[in-house]
Amino acid sequence: MNNGAVLQPAMKLAGIEKTYGHGDATLTVLKDANLNLAAGEMVALVAPSGTGKSTLLHIAGLLEKPTSGEVYVGGAACHKLDDKALTRMRRTEIGIVYQFHHLLPEFTAVENIAMPMMIRGLDRAEAQKRAFTLLQYLHIDHRSKHRPAELSGGEQQRVAIARAVANSPRILLADEPTGNLDPKTSDYVFDALSQLVKESGLSALVATHNLDLAARMDRKITIQDQQIVAH
Ligand code: ADP
Ligand code: MG
Repeated sequence: MNNGAVLQPAMKLAGIEKTYGHGDATLTVLKDANLNLAAGEMVALVAPSGTGKSTLLHIAGLLEKPTSGEVYVGGAACHKLDDKALTRMRRTEIGIVYQFHHLLPEFTAVENIAMPMMIRGLDRAEAQKRAFTLLQYLHIDHRSKHRPAELSGGEQQRVAIARAVANSPRILLADEPTGNLDPKTSDYVFDALSQLVKESGLSALVATHNLDLAARMDRKITIQDQQIVAH
């Protein structure tokens, strides 16, 4: 057995600095921020608004480059990749869920979920078959032909979750995924999310202001003085 591979984190952020320029001034949001996400681990990111949660998730999601520091996904040094390789990596290894679903309004639930698989090269029939299986798994297969505007808020988020995991990513990043939902729906969507994480073995980093949900994850982290620390 290769213990090195087993112990390798799904994601590692090392010495991350992120500085934004504001005219002549600069704003340092993260400084020497470090994080290891183990395979199968679900981590809550709980921190006040403006402390850099979304910034951290964008860097982890390979959407934004850190000013300096290293980003590893499954052992691959992403900070060394060019934009084309980064895009490929993002498509295969990362799934992202936002506070607002960002589903394509003119496509049905099943088509929205099939989209990332087709972009990756799966044919339509195969992609729609897996999309439907995901809808069944999340108990919304009876809404498969609904467009986003014909879905409730909780259903929209479950479709967004299904879309995020469509390509079986290694890492799921969620930026306040239940922030727009009432408490009961929030609970339901979170249950669906955590069950999916547990059963698929992917790792999740979930930014949330909901302390009840945070308490149900494997551990909690926060951002303090531009660094990542235990919450
Ligand atoms: P959070 O998600 O915790 O609310 P953000 O990561 O969105 O925090 O923002 C952290 C800080 O960085 C805020 O002060 C915000 O104004 C600033 N910021 C975020 N994105 C940018 C950007 N693209 N350009 C300049 N400043 C930014
Ligand atoms: Mg944010």
